[in-house]
Amino acid sequence: MTVVENTFSEKNVAYYFDASFSYLDEIVERDNTILITDENVFELHQQKFDDWKTIVIKAGEEHKHQATVDFIINRLIELEADRKTFIVGVGGGVVTDITGYAASVYMRGLKFAFVPSTILAMVDAAIGGKNGVDVGLYKNLVGLIKQPEFILFDYSLLQTLPNEQWVNGFAEVIKHACIKDAMLFSVLEKYSLNDFRKDPLLLAELIEINVTIKTAIVVIDEFEQADRKLLNFGHTIGHAVENLHHILHGHAVSIGMVAACNLSEQINGFHFEEAIRIVKLLTKYHLPVDIETEYEKVFEVLKMDKKRIKNEVNFILLNKIGEAVIKSVKLDDLHKHLKEIL
Ligand code: NAD
Repeated sequence: MTVVENTFSEKNVAYYFDASFSYLDEIVERDNTILITDENVFELHQQKFDDWKTIVIKAGEEHKHQATVDFIINRLIELEADRKTFIVGVGGGVVTDITGYAASVYMRGLKFAFVPSTILAMVDAAIGGKNGVDVGLYKNLVGLIKQPEFILFDYSLLQTLPNEQWVNGFAEVIKHACIKDAMLFSVLEKYSLNDFRKDPLLLAELIEINVTIKTAIVVIDEFEQADRKLLNFGHTIGHAVENLHHILHGHAVSIGMVAACNLSEQINGFHFEEAIRIVKLLTKYHLPVDIETEYEKVFEVLKMDKKRIKNEVNFILLNKIGEAVIKSVKLDDLHKHLKEIL
């Protein structure tokens, strides 16, 4: 196990890499701690939850809403949680997002931490302190930024992760490579998903590189005034198609990244050659690169995007692999471009 301390504005956050779930006992007081997980993780890893007070929520994005927060709060009251209670979210991004939010609002804020259990949560959702819930069609519309006390990475949890969730998580890995790390992009071109699944050392290294990329971005811009926006590459159109078509987050981001590459071409007026490499890599990792959708409906959802300011939406576009830029696009122009690219 290696421990890395990261300094965020409000606190230091410890990352326990290559740790074991049982190490939790060393860092929290069991009597004072409540775990939050979802029904799938609970069933597949039941023995890990033995003797821990645990709140089990329903699995899936469709349960990442206020009603689940209310359920958690009622269970916290039943379990007599007080201001000294420590909360640990054990699960995928839905669990970590909702745990951070529920813990932050219960009694005006309890301390919390995460044990991410999907690739996506390990490389992305658990990192950076953003948490919250969806409201109807609108993803993550309600929430706040608050850092966990620590994140414990137990890679053995991934042994039960279904194939489609491995694929899902690699969309964010490819995103990190696209926006910040051309070398990582080449590494991903060299290996396959199966190589990472079969080789624990290769996987551990990949996760740690991705955690480091995201953390470095968040540490310098925790409240998304500048560089943190780059992490939204693929997410603007991605979120819209995710909610309209109820597809996996990673699939939506993959489609969104290709759409953003095409948008780069439309806006800059020249051929973005590296888009071909990106489409090839996404396809290699079994991710979809387009979807049949109605551009008018996508546009309607985009108008409500959190990244819209008055009549402009911020898009993340690529100059080249490993280098992303923020570009503000007028809604009228976006409407015109969407017709071309979707
Ligand atoms: P998820 O939490 O829904 O998990 C996917 C599925 O895998 C679920 O069915 C879950 O029960 C199951 N699962 C989890 N761990 C498992 C395991 N070890 N073995 C078997 N099954 C397991 O989804 P996700 O893809 O992890 O996360 C997506 C969510 O993360 C979205 O809501 C997205 O908005 C959010 N997210 C947040 C941030 C952030 O910065 N806060 C960043 C990216 C994504």
